[in-house]
Amino acid sequence: MNLKNYIRDIQGFPKEGILFKDITPLLNDPIAREYCLEILLSSLNGLKIDKVVGAESRGFFFGMLLADRLNAGFVPVRKPNKLPFKTISRSYNLEYGTDSLEMHVDAIKKGEKVLIHDDVLATGGTARALADLVHELGGEIVQFNFLMELSFLNGREKIKEHSIFTVITY
Ligand code: 5GP
Repeated sequence: MNLKNYIRDIQGFPKEGILFKDITPLLNDPIAREYCLEILLSSLNGLKIDKVVGAESRGFFFGMLLADRLNAGFVPVRKPNKLPFKTISRSYNLEYGTDSLEMHVDAIKKGEKVLIHDDVLATGGTARALADLVHELGGEIVQFNFLMELSFLNGREKIKEHSIFTVITY
């Protein structure tokens, strides 16, 4: 199965000049979705995972599926002021300006083994912020995995000390 057939290119979203990779056809197809999930799981080679961290919002879809199959906890990382309990926060650079991400202070215990998942690795700013949040709580990052990597943006450079797995590369 060629999973690229389930990723749709949208020209000019969310703004002019951007070619957006839309994963909703993949989410919409149970066979392709399961196939993709199995590839992500097999990359872990049976490694023990205590927590799966998923980034708002497209990291929640496969992040939760992975947590379920790994019998691990799921930790949502969200944009500012979305999480109800006490949070830690990390800022990161966007093309213009900065943004930040938040995680609940009690989401990860020191020494827990963590898998970080997001749909896309682009410039790596989001991934770097996720790694910093996990480290602040004392978690050990076992792997980063992504559905897609936009390799020409060289995001892996920002998290190069970690194991990185991507299902599809552009
Ligand atoms: P980065 O921080 O690596 O530049 O961007 C990655 C974040 O932006 C991810 O959370 C991802 O959801 C979002 N993103 C950037 N480009 C795309 C894209 O083309 N398609 C999708 N689905 N998400 C994108």
